Amino acid sequence: MKIAYFLGVAAIAVAAPARADTKVIHAGRVITEAGKPALGQSTITITDGRITAIAQGLQPAPAGAELIDLSAKTVLPGLVDLHVHLSSDPGGDFWKEAVEPDEYGVIVGAKNALVTARAGFTTVRDLGSARQVGFALRKGTAQGMIPGPRIVSAGPAISIIGGHGDVSGFRPEVNAVLDGHNSCTGAEQCAARVREASKNGADVIKITATGGVLSQQGRGLGQHFTDVEMKAIADTAHSLGLRVAAHAHGARGIEGAARAGVDSIEHATFADAEAIKVMKANGTAFVPTLMAFTGIRDRLGQNVYTPTVEKKVRETLSDVGKALKAAHQAGVTIAFGTDAGVFEHGRNAEEFGQMVALGGMTPTQALASATTTAAKLLDMDGEIGRISPGYSADIIAVDGDPLSDIRTLEKVQFVMVRGRQIP
Ligand SMILES: [Zn+2]
Repeated sequence: MKIAYFLGVAAIAVAAPARADTKVIHAGRVITEAGKPALGQSTITITDGRITAIAQGLQPAPAGAELIDLSAKTVLPGLVDLHVHLSSDPGGDFWKEAVEPDEYGVIVGAKNALVTARAGFTTVRDLGSARQVGFALRKGTAQGMIPGPRIVSAGPAISIIGGHGDVSGFRPEVNAVLDGHNSCTGAEQCAARVREASKNGADVIKITATGGVLSQQGRGLGQHFTDVEMKAIADTAHSLGLRVAAHAHGARGIEGAARAGVDSIEHATFADAEAIKVMKANGTAFVPTLMAFTGIRDRLGQNVYTPTVEKKVRETLSDVGKALKAAHQAGVTIAFGTDAGVFEHGRNAEEFGQMVALGGMTPTQALASATTTAAKLLDMDGEIGRISPGYSADIIAVDGDPLSDIRTLEKVQFVMVRGRQIP
């Protein structure tokens, strides 16, 4: 007994942890969660990157703790953008992919990760990047080697041969050299692509269910994958614990993807009543990306786009926001995503104003879409989206009240990701 007691004491002494890193925030007001009444003056304690306590009033910080004074600001959970492309910037010539090495995407992505975090986005879902670029960025920000948001990465999108996501626009030999091994035909091969993506490090599966606007493929914006292929993709992903995000514009492609069991429809530009009905019935989330169309509109007629792309652009612009409004009224889950990369990274929060103005959402609903709702779609409910003990210290602050003027979120004054302050 004596020996056991002695060994027990020794073990405790050896295992004593290094001194905890403690930060204390003095907040003027705290929105702990979209939809809950805001708290007045509060003290938030953060230990080793996690929120450990929220106390009423401005309490003194313990000795050795860093005090952060946000007593004149509204403090709220860090925002989530479910649809970004950190490794690309807007415009640009499509032939760049034949010229620039994939590795350059990491450099562009590091720049955009910082810009995105500064804009208040503490988590992003990167839905399409070349080969290992997104995974390298994910690791770099997680380890604090580069400042940026938490990154949930799809890696390359899965596409039909010649679809949005496959290489197109070059002569066949050049297409073949640039091929990303990310297209598939038939249920079996598409299931295999999902398993390969999982093996290579994908956190989520991105597919292009229909044609897309900014690729050189000239097959329009209608359904690309067959229903059977999408069912195989969704079932395989779910069997591996991965969610599926489906890019889709045309109504039948949206409907088919929702019926196949994908978790979110990205863009959903031409969602009609039938497509919305199927989304609602299947619990499919709608990620509107209204800012993508702002980015496209900004560049139209400036010789940025090829005739193939310009033709598709002109089909979409008059319908922006209509599907969101109808889906929101029908009770479809709306989750925040912008398609940053099609417009300038850092403007992500401009999406909120459009969700309110075009989609008919309240500021509280718009904020929920980028916090609690987004966290749920990422299976990170309990980790991000709220200011609450046990949650990651993903915290932002603004002047004014975002619940009376949602556009205050366009001017974020303070950002912390996983307890690290963004410079
Ligand atoms: Zn996109």
